[in-house]
Amino acid sequence: MNNLESILTENRVFQPNPEFAAHARIGSLDAYNALVAEAQNDYEGFWARQAREFLTWDTPFTTILDDSNAPHYRWFTDGKLNASVNCIDRHLPAKAQKVAIIAEADDGSVREITYQQLHDEVAKLANGIKSLGVTKGDRVIIYMPMIPEASIAMLACARIGAIHSVVFGGFSAEALRDRINDTGARLVITADGGMRGGRTVPLKSAVDKALEAGCASVEKVVVFERLGNAALNAGTDVAWSALIADKSTTCDPEMVEAEHPLFLLYTSGSTGKPKGVQHATGGFLVNAALTNAWVFDLNDDDVYWCTADVGWITGHSYVTYGPLALGVTQVMFEGIPSYPDGGRFWQMIERHKVSVFYTAPTAIRALMKLGDDVPAKSDLSSLRLLGTVGEPINPEAWMWYHRVIGSERCPIADTWWQTETGAHMIAPLPGAIATKPGSCTRPLPGIIADIVDDEGNPVGHNQGGNLVIKKPWPSMIRTIWGDDARFQRSYFPEKLKGYYLAGDSARRDDDGYFWIMGRIDDVLNVSGHRLGTMEIESALVAHPLVAEAAVVGKPHDIKGESIVAFVVCKGDRPEGDAADAMVKTLRDWVAEQIGPIAKPDDIRFGDNLPKTRSGKIMRRLLRGIAIGELPQGDVSTLENPAILEQLLGK
Ligand code: ATP
Ligand code: MG
Repeated sequence: MNNLESILTENRVFQPNPEFAAHARIGSLDAYNALVAEAQNDYEGFWARQAREFLTWDTPFTTILDDSNAPHYRWFTDGKLNASVNCIDRHLPAKAQKVAIIAEADDGSVREITYQQLHDEVAKLANGIKSLGVTKGDRVIIYMPMIPEASIAMLACARIGAIHSVVFGGFSAEALRDRINDTGARLVITADGGMRGGRTVPLKSAVDKALEAGCASVEKVVVFERLGNAALNAGTDVAWSALIADKSTTCDPEMVEAEHPLFLLYTSGSTGKPKGVQHATGGFLVNAALTNAWVFDLNDDDVYWCTADVGWITGHSYVTYGPLALGVTQVMFEGIPSYPDGGRFWQMIERHKVSVFYTAPTAIRALMKLGDDVPAKSDLSSLRLLGTVGEPINPEAWMWYHRVIGSERCPIADTWWQTETGAHMIAPLPGAIATKPGSCTRPLPGIIADIVDDEGNPVGHNQGGNLVIKKPWPSMIRTIWGDDARFQRSYFPEKLKGYYLAGDSARRDDDGYFWIMGRIDDVLNVSGHRLGTMEIESALVAHPLVAEAAVVGKPHDIKGESIVAFVVCKGDRPEGDAADAMVKTLRDWVAEQIGPIAKPDDIRFGDNLPKTRSGKIMRRLLRGIAIGELPQGDVSTLENPAILEQLLGK
């Protein structure tokens, strides 16, 4: 991957807001540099200090990093702790009456759950699943709507040392069955249904279908009565309410070794078959708690809202575990941003006085498409920090977020990380690091990120290459469940000198800022120039009529590859002459913005783009469409299959 070229020109810089910095946990560049230096001078000592400061250990650890079985690194191995104690018990009794979760349902009704109530509900459910025979190390599938009971189920598993694997509630029975069988789960925790956008989501019937199709390991199914219409199968099914009815609100936590798996979670499947990522209790919690404190600067009086579903890693680190480990109040939302109208997010920020808000570029681009007057109807003055994750955020979407949602006052934390990294890796500390639209800025203290060629040698400034992390960190993936060989091959390929290979391409600018350029798999090769997808897409999105864009390569006799762009316009999809005119406009626009080399040879318009259920553009499917074929490969996590036909013109 030598000579990946950068064609993006983006020079805007935003200094940390001095008012914000004055109160921030890490409020200056000097403070950031001091932490970086501390990690450089004594790497293990640095992480040991964080692990002691951010977590409560039942048995303190004496070993820090164990690399005897690298790349299966182990952290804090002789320490013992319990994740639910760190998220709940240690905040009691001081925060017994503090609201832990403000839950807004799809229909707008609101429920508040205090830390004491959270404790009691978790204990009762933990006792309940224990009574079903679940013990330490057993796997439990959680297939739930975005309601507090999803977090309660996760924490109940953690309380008794069971390993949870949350499956996004929008996945089909087949996807669910695959995950049940891969994990060998004994128990499934689900609900009779959920509500999204005014429609019911039939969770229980999907579980029934999965079990009928064959899930030999499953013994019991616990059903939360969200809709009140659960039809229970004799023998396997147990109603949540019945299970906890006579259970105690005391449940002695199982203190587990730091390396005990806390959960398994499957990746989004953007680049291939989803991988079952295994995370360890101690290390995961260290980075989850630390990044919520450093990057989101969460404090006791914040109202925090992360819009991610608990079915994704973001919902693990930034809904369930991280914020609760810090004892803050958070909003949890069952529904979708467009229901009952496109102002829902902004109305909720006003209603709950949200101060820290974290969402994905796909949502930002979709809401931006609706125009500035939608958010203008809500009072967003409670906001003090905005975050984004999931995909590269195009500079124009970043600017809209900054200007329209953040009133040019709120710092923006563009957080680069992955299911495998467990927590933020590269992101601005908002009181310390100036931001640039489209850049995730600089690695967090203790994270040794670099950009290297295929042999592991560093590339020059502004040259693209493989994004790697050179040293192990506490919340890193331990293995792919049941597949050590795939783990080693995917993340620690032989030639790379033992570095963790992220699978993304990136460049670093003269100020040491990182810019994600796309997936390694998606790099284009045009007339000998190797280009990332993100930069061409960003030029397209910068056009006032474009809402979203995805760029892929198509084999070309002379050039090697030609550039095909799939574009979603603001307003209606152009057709006929209007489409031809728009193609010309956009080709000229890209040539003007970044030069003729990046000019798409072919531009097609769609109402949407193929996306994973976590909202990421699946470029690998568009490569098939570009050559006129219905794409091959794993499409189990594709959100909107019908769009493939539209883009193919069938
Ligand atoms: P799979 O690994 O199955 O292909 P996936 O990589 O989409 O799926 P996730 O772990 O959910 O699964 O996503 C991590 C990826 O998301 C990163 O590797 C990166 O490509 C992208 N990403 C996340 N945050 C950012 C960000 N702030 N900027 C750029 N890219 C990001
Ligand atoms: Mg990935």
